[in-house]
Amino acid sequence: MKTFKEINPSPRTLMTPGPVEADPRVLKAMSSHILGQFDPEFTDLMAETQEMARILFQTENKQTYCVDTTSRGGLEAVLTGAICPGDKVLIPAFGRFGYLLSEILERCGADITLLEREWGTVFDPEEIEEELKKGGYKAVACIHGETSTSMMQPMEELGKICKKYDALLIVDTVATMGGVDIPVDKWGIDGCIAGTQKCISAPSGSALITYNDKISKIVNERKKVEKGIRTSSDIDGTLPQIPSNYLDIAQLEDYWSPRHLNHHTEATSMQYAVHEALRCIMLEGLQERFARHALNDKALCAGLQAMGLKIFGDLKHKMPCVTAICIPEGIDGPTLRGQALRDFGIEMATSFGPLDGKIIRIGNMGYSSQKRNILFTLGAIEAVLIDNGVKVPAGEAVAAALQVYKNA
Ligand SMILES: *Cc1c(COP(=O)(O)O)cnc(C)c1O
Repeated sequence: MKTFKEINPSPRTLMTPGPVEADPRVLKAMSSHILGQFDPEFTDLMAETQEMARILFQTENKQTYCVDTTSRGGLEAVLTGAICPGDKVLIPAFGRFGYLLSEILERCGADITLLEREWGTVFDPEEIEEELKKGGYKAVACIHGETSTSMMQPMEELGKICKKYDALLIVDTVATMGGVDIPVDKWGIDGCIAGTQKCISAPSGSALITYNDKISKIVNERKKVEKGIRTSSDIDGTLPQIPSNYLDIAQLEDYWSPRHLNHHTEATSMQYAVHEALRCIMLEGLQERFARHALNDKALCAGLQAMGLKIFGDLKHKMPCVTAICIPEGIDGPTLRGQALRDFGIEMATSFGPLDGKIIRIGNMGYSSQKRNILFTLGAIEAVLIDNGVKVPAGEAVAAALQVYKNA
């Protein structure tokens, strides 16, 4: 009989904007005994996850929980729940993921207005306000960290602006949550989505979401408990039912409430991962974690610039957890990335759409955001460039990064 190989992946340094290296404590937690989803030991763990997630999101929202899906499913769950067919939604798009929001919202039957910008820039909040002034908008859906371009949209004022025009603000913080300070309540964000495989540093497979009472009220007016499990106290809402069963946040709210009303079978091992990843974040401290990402970003950028490489985009608005470099003359993206992976075991990312072939993206996220990874990556990029005949000043990059750490 044919024998099949045991899974034995090579160690990698994951410097992409996701997935990144999981904290070893997370991987260990995932190999624990399986619990049933209604075991009190497990439901206690769910409650703790919610408590820690509220700290991470910096919110008081009761509705703060996980959806068994990747981050895009988290976006789809919140948008499909909050936005009814015909609702007017404004999407300021400044990269690939902005267009993903419109792709999801089209399928919700939303009446979409796209504001578009050149990739590598962000919106002035006034531009968004100009459009909202026209009136009738139910919501603004926006990306915080646009991973495809490495740009980060300023959010502080946007919540206030949305409130002024009575529009909900729904924000994708998949790439930034856990790496950058995002006080959800203070910024007036009504619905917020994060993913596990980026700065939260667990494997891909769960989406963390939070939304306030305004959204929860809409969701509950769309609620219809499944026939097989409904009781006489389950009254149907008056708004159109949420079109997705699996991502029906009206029912997921019940599932994550003390009622634990049956819906799907919870991915309990993945929940161990989320719980442990959040616990690691609590242990490190939010501000300490943000400072770690910022310092490693500073060192990475200093090293890249010392090598003579150009960092892409409007540097005032660069995400600290993603850096895009313009591919220098004399080499192409696949060669640079391919050799870094083959010779050094370092993975970096390509890019999409108008930036394809022009930039490569380096992640600095979660457990991967470490001094040794930054120095190793800089050394590897330099070596690959020199090996391919690109003229770069040898030895400058790592030295510049080390200087940043010394001065910190
Ligand atoms: C990675 C990413 C997503 C998609 O996440 P998946 O887990 O691949 O579904 C969505 N939005 C942003 C900003 C991202 O960086």
